Amino acid sequence: MEREEILSAIYHCVKCKLCSISSFHPNEEWLPLCPSGRFYGYQAFYAPGKLEIFREILEGEISEPTEGLLKAVYACTLCGACYEKCKQITSVEISLPELFEELREELVKKGWFLDTHKNIAEKIKETRNAYGENYKYEAKSFYGADVLYFIGCTARYRVPEIADAMLKIFDKLAIKYQVMEDEWCCGSVLLRTGQVGDVKELREHNIEEIKNSGAKTVVFTCPGCLMTFEKNYPDMGVELVHSSQFLTRLGDMKVKKQGMEVVYHDPCHLGRDLGIYEEPRAVLKEVADVKEMKREREQAWCCGSGGGVKSAFDDFALWSAGERIKEAKEAGADALVSACPFCKRNLREAAEKEGTEVYDVVELVNRSLEG
Ligand code: SF4
Ligand code: SF4
Repeated sequence: MEREEILSAIYHCVKCKLCSISSFHPNEEWLPLCPSGRFYGYQAFYAPGKLEIFREILEGEISEPTEGLLKAVYACTLCGACYEKCKQITSVEISLPELFEELREELVKKGWFLDTHKNIAEKIKETRNAYGENYKYEAKSFYGADVLYFIGCTARYRVPEIADAMLKIFDKLAIKYQVMEDEWCCGSVLLRTGQVGDVKELREHNIEEIKNSGAKTVVFTCPGCLMTFEKNYPDMGVELVHSSQFLTRLGDMKVKKQGMEVVYHDPCHLGRDLGIYEEPRAVLKEVADVKEMKREREQAWCCGSGGGVKSAFDDFALWSAGERIKEAKEAGADALVSACPFCKRNLREAAEKEGTEVYDVVELVNRSLEG
């Protein structure tokens, strides 16, 4: 984005702070929307505060990074709840999370970054995955299959039950699939933390691999990877779909409904960023009774792990997830279900003490498939 475009967007903010509450929600409760502002409490952590920081940096009023400034900028999950609310009350169409990514890029250019994020970039350089793991997630692959499953770092190395479930679904439904022999990190964490310069090589490698595979459809269980391919990769001429979209269009999967009442948690990248709200619910309804939490769809409360927050501010990440667990319990659900490995990992950690079960949609589908 050009400097003038950024400043124009910043000056459009009237500091009304309506982006911090879900007041227009039909349930008419004034529930908080911004996890960062709610947890840290200072104005700087809410969207208008961050915009003011950005303006002051661009106009030369801030020339040194303080610990507080770095925290206000980086302890934001880029969940987009502020943007969705702002969009409803103003004519500004520039995405606030995109502005916050620009802000981080500006900070990184000045050398104002967090060591934790720099370490992730180094791990990716060394191992091509965001967790610095040296082993490979083993999966069979059918050469030349039309469907390619892009697993992603988190499902490969931290929440493998999601990748396992997706692969079992393919097998049970007799769908031939490929997985990339040499899958590299999609670059999402780098793009979200302002380290954009390190992404080119990853992107070029993944594009080359996918083109060489001959696949026509790429399936993702990670909304972060899917969003990165959609928004930060050039068009590869292949179809990109989330697992829930892929499963919905299969039609009757011959699943056995589980006797469970569940709530669905909208992942930010899947919902607010990609507008995919209905397909995960449709798939879930095939296998369980689905209830809604108070904050859902565009108004969903973030799980707390995105935007580089889980690695750098785990206390905040777990608090945010804990708030979601409370909301799930309030809805009277047996389990909380999401459609994102980041969400599952963080929500599961927060739910441990509460005894709440947390799943990904594909896990319940796999469990419900006959055979
Ligand atoms: S709702 Fe929009 S205009 Fe109001 S404070 Fe938030 S970002 Fe600024
Ligand atoms: S993106 Fe989310 S965490 Fe960041 S300021 Fe907006 S609502 Fe708050």
